[in-house]
Amino acid sequence: MENNIDIRSLTFDALCAELEKMGEKPFRARQIFKWLHAKQITEISEMTDISNALRARLNEEYSLKTLKTVAKFASKVDNTIKYLFDIGGGLVIESVLMRYSYGNAVCISSQAGCRMGCTFCASAIGGLERSLSAGEMAEQIYRIQQDTGERVSSVVIMGSGEPLDNFENVMDFLDIIHSPLGNDLSHRHITLSTCGLADRIYELADKNLQITLAISLHAPNDEIRQRTMPVAKKYDIDTVIRAASDYAQRTKRRVTFEYALIKGVNDSAENASELASRLKGKLCHVNLIPVNDVKEHNYIRSSEKSIQSFASVLRARGIETTVRRRLGSDINAACGQLRRSYMKDKTPGKDKTPGVSARRAD
Ligand code: SAH
Repeated sequence: MENNIDIRSLTFDALCAELEKMGEKPFRARQIFKWLHAKQITEISEMTDISNALRARLNEEYSLKTLKTVAKFASKVDNTIKYLFDIGGGLVIESVLMRYSYGNAVCISSQAGCRMGCTFCASAIGGLERSLSAGEMAEQIYRIQQDTGERVSSVVIMGSGEPLDNFENVMDFLDIIHSPLGNDLSHRHITLSTCGLADRIYELADKNLQITLAISLHAPNDEIRQRTMPVAKKYDIDTVIRAASDYAQRTKRRVTFEYALIKGVNDSAENASELASRLKGKLCHVNLIPVNDVKEHNYIRSSEKSIQSFASVLRARGIETTVRRRLGSDINAACGQLRRSYMKDKTPGKDKTPGVSARRAD
């Protein structure tokens, strides 16, 4: 049963093909897809307009994976909620709901853990556990919608994991989530963040989707980038920026460069100026992120003053720049921190409630 295909991970076309193989009429695929992705049911038995015989067959041949919420933390300083979901095999992943004036955004994970090894990132510390299926990515959104009773209007693939290292499943997820028969979320409201797997960025551009691409740059040159991001040894900074420009040109979508400011590492005026030179004239925007301290690596967030002067240098050089607001700072709402606290605290037989609810992230 557990080895069966997860029916929620099938794109609409794949589901049609499966039902055709079973000798079913095409309209059945539409009905089933609606149950899975519009009504977002948790049991095949809930498909009340499908015959008992077909439901039994679906139950036999497929599994239906639903994420179980193991913990939930609501921030007291803003309306952010962080969810920890059990994905089986003793693994948990995290997702964050952020409420903005324009709607609800959810940050989803694409893998449990990550193998990219960025030194400032909590998700990288334990390495990659496994990649998530398309259904598990969609489920993070569905369970949050069900829990809050509110629709999610935008999604950022910026939780743990490197989405382009889980390319096929992420493509299936993007296909599933924007289907008008299902959850119907426009690609224009989806952002995919990558550490810069240049070859895959070209492949993504080939798909010609209207999603926003965000690139984690975090350094103005190769020397600094290689110190914090092992992937920089494979793809140098100019190769990554070239791939990003190609994406922008072909999709006509402005690319975001993310830059986490770490005190004394990448936050000087000189660093800002070098970054501005590299990005001059590109269809892009820089999002400065005050780094979340990760104790394991002794990185400290830049001061407010350094952040503002870094931003001024970029703006003076004509680079559009924003500084990211920090949400959910009282609930470890950043970058794999909560999952990591949970995994650390979890010992067999111990109460599963992670002891982090009152701990500040900073
Ligand atoms: N692997 C993808 C997406 C996941 S990380 C990527 O690299 O983009 C999402 C974002 O959070 C990335 O920009 C990542 O570099 C950033 N990030 C990771 N750890 C951080 C920290 N301690 N403080 C601030 N941003 C961090």
